[in-house]
Amino acid sequence: MKTILLNPGPVTLSDGVRQALMGPDTCHREVEFADLTKTVIHKLLGVYALESSYTARVLTGSGSSAVEAMLATLVAPGDRPLVLCNGVYGERMANMLARQGKQAEVVRGDWLAPIELQALETRLESDPTITQIITVHNETTTGRLNDIGKIAAIAKPRGLPLLLDAVSSFGGEEIDFIGWGIAACAATANKCLHGVPGISFVVAQESLLAAAEGNAPGLYLDLTAYRGQVGDGYSPFTQSVQVLFALNQALDELAASGGWLQRRASYRARSESIRAQARALEIEPLIDPTESSSMITAFKLPTGLSYPILHDRMKQAGFIIYAGQGDLSKSMFRIANMGEIGPDDLARLNRAFAEAAT
Ligand SMILES: *Cc1c(COP(=O)(O)O)cnc(C)c1O
Repeated sequence: MKTILLNPGPVTLSDGVRQALMGPDTCHREVEFADLTKTVIHKLLGVYALESSYTARVLTGSGSSAVEAMLATLVAPGDRPLVLCNGVYGERMANMLARQGKQAEVVRGDWLAPIELQALETRLESDPTITQIITVHNETTTGRLNDIGKIAAIAKPRGLPLLLDAVSSFGGEEIDFIGWGIAACAATANKCLHGVPGISFVVAQESLLAAAEGNAPGLYLDLTAYRGQVGDGYSPFTQSVQVLFALNQALDELAASGGWLQRRASYRARSESIRAQARALEIEPLIDPTESSSMITAFKLPTGLSYPILHDRMKQAGFIIYAGQGDLSKSMFRIANMGEIGPDDLARLNRAFAEAAT
């Protein structure tokens, strides 16, 4: 029986993406791979129809490597970034900045609540030394889609660059780069883009990257060293060749199926179906579904049902669900709905969910 992944990445692959992994043996320092790198960067920018003021860099590593590279490169040693946290991934960015020896201010909010905009404004009024705002778009911990438009409306008039962890939203949610004035975002091949894990990327304003020389404390995650990717197409280090083949194919499939807007619509249809089944089982969503992202739903574990039992029953039926993280690990579980999931799979999933939860 085929296993369907309902964890927040990696996802169940399409046949086309799996087939792309079988591409020819290729040296990463040959013109074929350099051309492919440029093509993939062009397609990544094309997901949100970005014009020439934005650029992208791809690197071999999981989503966290792109997030860490973005922070390493675009936050200078003397900066005072403000990190807005309402989950594990906001905390992870605060931790990364601390490890890089950078003086981040961290505003911690309730993990079950939206980011407090009034608190942000008050903080910025009282602290004019803040140099950028950093937050998570879809906080996968709870599946909350943070309202970046509203945060941008506070950051933009103050001229504060906004850096986003968009690892679990890029390709499956709206990211209004121009309207919100996004300075940079980090994302990965293997979530809403439906590629294979191993390649991640940063989309950034060209001018910011150009001015970021010397910021990064390390070598591998210094995005300024990847400049060649948009020139002759060469990367400074060995790339995961087959994973880039797969990402190229996944981006073609995304475009052919109607782009991010259509992908969000299909995720929403899936998650609404899963939420309806949960309602029928009297399993409550952890947060208000209107504040949830399209690609994952967090649910409260019903009394009398432990996560390991639910997980194992679902796995037996061919579905991999996901535990809670941090303080929420005992009280919740998550069901993501990215990747190759057909209507039959969804019907089977809802039946398995009903059986596993009763
Ligand atoms: C998945 C994810 C990451 C990165 O996780 P990796 O395991 O490094 O790929 C970062 N941020 C968010 C919001 C995520 O969902």
